[in-house]
Amino acid sequence: MDNFTYFNPTRIHFGQGQIAQLTNEIPSDARILITYGGGSIKKNGVLEQVHAALAGRHFLEFGGIEANPHFETLMKAVALVKAEGIDFILAVGGGSVIDGSKFIAAAARYQGDAWEILQTYGSKVTEALPLGTVLTLAATGSEMNAGAVVTRAETQDKLFFHSVHVQPRFSILDPVTTFSLPPRQIANGVVDAFVHTLEQYSTYPVNAKVQDRIAEGLLRTLIEEGPKALANPQDYDVRANLMWSATMALNGTLSTGVPTDWATHMIGHELTGLYGLDHAQTLAIVQTAVWKYKLAAKQAKLAQYAERVFDLRDGSDEQKALAAIEQTEAFFAAMGNPPRLSAYGLGEEVIEPVAAKLTAHGHVALGEHTDITPEDVKAILRLAL
Ligand code: NAP
Ligand code: FE
Repeated sequence: MDNFTYFNPTRIHFGQGQIAQLTNEIPSDARILITYGGGSIKKNGVLEQVHAALAGRHFLEFGGIEANPHFETLMKAVALVKAEGIDFILAVGGGSVIDGSKFIAAAARYQGDAWEILQTYGSKVTEALPLGTVLTLAATGSEMNAGAVVTRAETQDKLFFHSVHVQPRFSILDPVTTFSLPPRQIANGVVDAFVHTLEQYSTYPVNAKVQDRIAEGLLRTLIEEGPKALANPQDYDVRANLMWSATMALNGTLSTGVPTDWATHMIGHELTGLYGLDHAQTLAIVQTAVWKYKLAAKQAKLAQYAERVFDLRDGSDEQKALAAIEQTEAFFAAMGNPPRLSAYGLGEEVIEPVAAKLTAHGHVALGEHTDITPEDVKAILRLAL
């Protein structure tokens, strides 16, 4: 196991009715901006609960943050924050609203062109407005991490940044808020959390037994509960297990002391930026193609994954790894995210543009061995046709 430093400062309030905790979490004299997306929180009663908890407080609202949040939209919120003297941001929604709000929080205090925040991966962020969240979609882990992904619509650049300054002070996770998710977003959430876990697991062994077994527990939980959420959308325990799995999958726990891959996410971001696919659709397309391309380097962990997650114990390591790849593809397809470009009406025409965008973004050495070049990405995408 490698050395690590672990610190996660986000306070989590988990469970039914916990939105009421907002009263205690936000300073009573704060000038709050509530940020949200396309309006799902108005239909499912979440905004009403937020209003009830903040009765008598000073707040404004900024809605319309789209999926894969746009820099252009977020800069309008930054202008509002500055004009109104906002000093606390409350993000209410899924990963896009939370990521977008992290960017707003940093950009409102940034000297210079805010796009630089993304071009420099957050390294130049020195302060941000305090941020809290009410999560309504179990998927990204953004509610308990310091990362965010923002798209510049004008140029189709989807870039990420990290900064300790934008990590949420608190997040409220009420599984009931996820009852209203459409099947496509249930599927996206499960697949995103699954692939987050895999990006920190399917590399090479470093004898990190605790991290491995937590990862395997999360993977098994997502496989068990994901289809149940599609079949019985109002099952509280199913949603609770999915919600906590998704948070645990990307709150820093799994990446302690182990190598991480992230090639699937980097390639997937370009597919979303260029072609508008949902984030988790791109992950389902790319993940197993990366494994097929890097089978020898990843074989030991994939064989362990086969044994401990799918109970596949027969055959050589290579046979087990290949069987696990098949099972993973079947799981993605069963959730509703088929693992091929063709399932989304895309083909060979994406290969050159994706490789060119990765090159332009400086993502030319991906994976746990930093040996996946844009040429390798072309071969990976051919395996995903
Ligand atoms: P999302 O883009 O936030 O939301 C997808 C859709 O779900 C929206 O149309 C939204 O509608 C709807 N929705 C959300 N909650 C709902 C509810 N309770 N009931 C009904 N509809 C609901 O989806 P996401 O998967 O959470 O976030 C994806 C983004 O996060 C991508 O940009 C991805 O790159 C990024 N990401 C970030 C991290 C990270 O660590 N920060 C990790 C992985 C991915 P409304 O707009 O109307 O609410
Ligand atoms: Fe993701």
